[in-house]
Amino acid sequence: MLDLHDYIKAIPNFPEEGIIFRDITPLLADGAAYQQATSEIVAYAKARDVNVIVGPESRGFLVGAPVANEMGLGLVPARKPGKLPREVVSESYQLEYGTASLEMHTDAIKPGDKVLITDDLLATGGTIEATIKLVEALGGTVVGLAFFIELAGLKGRERLDGYDILALLEY
Ligand code: 5GP
Repeated sequence: MLDLHDYIKAIPNFPEEGIIFRDITPLLADGAAYQQATSEIVAYAKARDVNVIVGPESRGFLVGAPVANEMGLGLVPARKPGKLPREVVSESYQLEYGTASLEMHTDAIKPGDKVLITDDLLATGGTIEATIKLVEALGGTVVGLAFFIELAGLKGRERLDGYDILALLEY
């Protein structure tokens, strides 16, 4: 087993002064590390009888796509506004400065679907909270949330109280 901490770089003062950015690109660039991270999430998803994976743009795709592919499941992207070509549901959420939103096609989730939501990192939980609302608006049940990294100090886990969370690494 690799220690996946060795594949995350801490970048001080990015994208702003005072922020330590956790760079996942070394993990993605290493076949064995990426495969190990994927396998851990696949095991978690199998235990929850997941039948579809949802990932928010854009790093959520990088976590969700290999999991979906290894399990033989579909991947549903939650995208930034204006990117999806058909009818969408939309959900806005608060950023530190201003707001953002995510959209999903209205037929992307079927009532009764058991959904795993994936992203690279859980910080305040705003991105995932919006993604959960989209899935639930379409009748899906969120049975798990999986991340490479959780920034424990930002209390995302409290915000997402009641949902089951897997984080491979914690800072
Ligand atoms: P939240 O909505 O939980 O506050 O922020 C999480 C979102 O911001 C994730 O989609 C994630 O990609 C991005 N993010 C915030 N901080 C970092 C960071 O330090 N490293 C990486 N890789 N992504 C981050």
